Amino acid sequence: MHLTATHINYFHICHRKLWLFSNGINMEHTSDIVYDGKLLHETTYPQRSAKYTEIEISAAIAGDLRLAGKIDFYDAKEKLIHEIKRSDKIEEAHEWQVKYYIWLFVLNDIPGVCARLEYPKVRQIQEVWLSEPDKLHLEEVVLRIADLLQSEICPPKINSRICKNCSYYDLCYVEE
Ligand code: SF4
Repeated sequence: MHLTATHINYFHICHRKLWLFSNGINMEHTSDIVYDGKLLHETTYPQRSAKYTEIEISAAIAGDLRLAGKIDFYDAKEKLIHEIKRSDKIEEAHEWQVKYYIWLFVLNDIPGVCARLEYPKVRQIQEVWLSEPDKLHLEEVVLRIADLLQSEICPPKINSRICKNCSYYDLCYVEE
């Protein structure tokens, strides 16, 4: 089974979203918010591509679990991951996404990497490190994701305020 940072991110947002995405129901292309986020990513720091490296990193753990991550901006000299978000607030799912990237470095015997979450819309920056309890959490999370993806039952709706900004909103609530 192949897991990516998107799985980790969605796990911390909504298990139903994770299940729908993992079962090939992808509505991201219909979402203005996702388009907006991609645009922000491409236009906020156009000079970055020359300074930072885009890398793909992977690791195999327990059984047939293969973990992968694609990092758009990595500063190899500083061992620093830059991740840009369109959101106007720091979200737990974002932190776990970059902690997952750091964990992939650790699994490849590259210690000392940290991350910087950047929120240009609100001019906020959050530094992120990976602790030992974080590693244990991620080990548990990937196993729980693997279980969830093998289930034939779609998890229930979460009826949260975040649903209105989710690309699956119509799918989840259109008949209500
Ligand atoms: S609309 Fe809400 S319940 Fe449905 S997938 Fe998105 S976050 Fe989950």
